[in-house]
Amino acid sequence: RATITMSKFTQVNVPATGKTISVPTGLFINNEFVPSVDSQETIQCINPATEEPICSVVAGSAKDVDVAVAAARSALKTTWGKNVSGFERSRLLNKLADLIERDAQELAELEALNNGKPVKIARDFDIGDSVGCLRYYAGWADKIVGQSIDIDNKTKLAFTKHEPIGVCGQIIPWNYPIMMWAWKVAPALACGCTIVMKPSEFTPLTALKLSELVVEAGFPPGVVNTVPALGSVGGAALAAHPGVDKIAFTGSTVTGRKIMEAAAKSNLKKVSLELGGKSPQLIFESADIDQAANWAALGILYNTGQDCTAGSRVYVQDSIYDKFLQTLIEKAKALNIGNGFDEKSGGGPVVSKVQYDKIWSYIDAGKQEGAKCVLGGEKRPGKGYFVDPTIFTEIKPGMKIVKDEIFGPVLSVGRFKTEEEAINLANDTTYGLGAGLHSNDAGQCMRVSQALEAGTVWVNQYNLLYNNVPFGGKKQSGIGRELGSYALDEYTSVKAIQWNYGEKLDWPL
Ligand code: NAD
Repeated sequence: RATITMSKFTQVNVPATGKTISVPTGLFINNEFVPSVDSQETIQCINPATEEPICSVVAGSAKDVDVAVAAARSALKTTWGKNVSGFERSRLLNKLADLIERDAQELAELEALNNGKPVKIARDFDIGDSVGCLRYYAGWADKIVGQSIDIDNKTKLAFTKHEPIGVCGQIIPWNYPIMMWAWKVAPALACGCTIVMKPSEFTPLTALKLSELVVEAGFPPGVVNTVPALGSVGGAALAAHPGVDKIAFTGSTVTGRKIMEAAAKSNLKKVSLELGGKSPQLIFESADIDQAANWAALGILYNTGQDCTAGSRVYVQDSIYDKFLQTLIEKAKALNIGNGFDEKSGGGPVVSKVQYDKIWSYIDAGKQEGAKCVLGGEKRPGKGYFVDPTIFTEIKPGMKIVKDEIFGPVLSVGRFKTEEEAINLANDTTYGLGAGLHSNDAGQCMRVSQALEAGTVWVNQYNLLYNNVPFGGKKQSGIGRELGSYALDEYTSVKAIQWNYGEKLDWPL
């Protein structure tokens, strides 16, 4: 093994609190933090609010992925998989949830430092939801059962077993690093799978910190392994690995396509993809304008727009257009985007320089293509990747800001006359993740929610997710479902056992 120059843990300063947090910096394999087999590369983590470095962690290689997959395979065969009862999996998941709850404040501060989001939002929403997700799947772990099927009631019976699918590669993005970790880990462990997790290279710190809690909770070595790595190296190696039985991915549609290709070319592993979106919200004339504006603001501004379900296209019925737009602008102005350690901040900076530049290139394109910028659209002076709420009107279907996922607080507002026109505008996208509609006409709510092409349709609300409600995309927004009982299908493989207890076979036929 080559030695790397960094120590296995580093002390991270949290300037706003004066505290330090001990963060592991190695690969997490077999319940230990270890150096890379062959990589001397590191990933530098940056605080997006100040642009200052936080610390470096190891950048895992393809060979490190091999080692992690071997550890996961060995655990599957010996201590996990079919060797552990559902009761025990449930107990361990609940224990992990307790530990995350215990450390919520520290984890939230680390998340805020690395991702930029406000500490209070990371703690109360991201971590609160993640704890709930682990407990929800702890509840399922001892209830994963098959069916018994009588063939003829006399001589033959079949029954099904829902077996763990095996070694799972899980690749997650930077926008909800802890929550995406929980959404992936909880159902996989409940079903008895083992895991090689690859966090985003922009936000690897909380996944490493959570790995410490995996050990403390008592999971056997090799059940959860964490390989921080560049996507093009560790992520690609995981997707193409013949020893991986399933890949669960959340990220961009471009990368999702690569993952499917790699899975097809290697071993046809099962794939689930949670991808991008360009989600519409329709505001009909009977809607409560103040409430609809609140939900529309939440839709595009929550997490500074870095949300796969961001409601980035809002279409408003002509008769209420001016009033709604004015109300929405006031709501957007009321949000305070600032340092995540400032109690007053309702949103933080965007995650990285790459993301910041990408968002500004879209704002520039919106102006150049003739849309009217009615809010924001000006850079702030000083440090930090801050982008203020930006609203465009007078949009046209072909414009980049209308077609492409921006993943920032940039909203396009259009108008419509009829319900049919609204539905056509909403569905005029290659994506199909989320959609919202606001109306006080129950018949209209039912008609429109059925016509919208999306995995989730929110009626008179937006962006709310629950651990017991499935989530996923249609069209190019993804394949498969997370959350709810539906996620169990992603991590199990059904075996039919056919039993003959009486039929005699006459031969030849
Ligand atoms: P990304 O696709 O660049 O990266 C996501 C993950 O994939 C990262 O861990 C990255 O390292 C890895 N990766 C990159 N290239 C890879 C490759 N060739 N092979 C394997 N893995 C690779 O996306 P991002 O920029 O981190 O995240 C933003 C995107 O994620 C947005 O487009 C957003 O819509 C999407 N997203 C979707 C959901 C959802 O639930 N549908 C949730 C969050 C984010």
